[in-house]
This record gives sequence, C-alpha cells and structure tokens, in this order.
Amino acid sequence: MEDSIFTKIVKGEIPCHKVYEDDKTLAFLDIKGTVPGHTLVITKKQVKFLWDLDDEDYSAAMATTKKVANRIREVLNPKLVGVKVMGEGVPHVHVHIIPFNEKEEYNQSPDMSIEPDHEKLADMAKKLAF
Ligand code: AMP
Repeated sequence: MEDSIFTKIVKGEIPCHKVYEDDKTLAFLDIKGTVPGHTLVITKKQVKFLWDLDDEDYSAAMATTKKVANRIREVLNPKLVGVKVMGEGVPHVHVHIIPFNEKEEYNQSPDMSIEPDHEKLADMAKKLAF
C-alpha cells in the first residue's frame, strides 16, 4: 500500500503543526482548517476508515480525541467542541475536532483554494500542544 499523506507526517517526511502524540495516535492542525484550532486526530496505523480499525486503535483514536477536545476547551474556551468523521479526501483515519461558538462555524466546508497561514498555525499549535 502506498503511504498516505498522513503516514508521511507520522514518518516525519512532511511537517505538521503538532498538538499531541502518543504511541498509537497523532493530533495536528488541519492545514485548511475552517476555524482556529481545527485539529485532526489520526491513527499511526494507516487504515482507510475509522470503522475498519481494530478495537484497540479505535479506542486509542477516541481517547486522543477526548484529550485534545478537552485541551481545546481549556485553552480556547469555545462554546462547544464538535467532531466530524468523513474521510472523503484523505484515505487514512482522521477525526476532525472543531471548536465553535455558532453552528454556522461548525457546518462550514473548508476552502481548499486558500493557502495555509503557517505562522498562525504554528502559533496555535504552540498554544494547544501538550
Ligand atoms: P476529509 O478526508 O474530507 O475528512 O478531510 C481531509 C482533511 O485533511 C482536510 O480538511 C484537509 O485540509 C486535511 N489535510 C490534508 N492534507 C493535510 C496536511 N498535510 N496537513 C494537515 N491537514 C491536511
């Protein structure tokens, strides 16, 4: 199987704005995040869909999602933190964690034509990292 872009991040072949890492999972900012703090949790194991993970990796992904969501609440203090699992774009398990105040923020789609602001992303990752 060809390495996904997220496996390349896990291997350190391409950079990311890291928020959290443990032996089974990695969390980093979405490069085209819809709101400040939009974070992705991935499993280090390259599996296409969340629902195909074995129970151990599924539990690890969910445990990291909870940890990161609570970290976002602590640091950014949004009204709510939502999650989305789609997997339309990248064929590698990822959970979107989206802090929001108004539901329009949660519901918006990413604008793929916008270039990422790496300085802002680096600042946010620094704030959220734990
Ligand atoms: P989806 O597969 O539709 O759930 O979304 C894939 C997400 O991965 C999109 O929101 C992209 O912005 C994000 N993404 C793709 N490549 C990278 C990358 N190199 N670093 C961070 N996020 C990425």
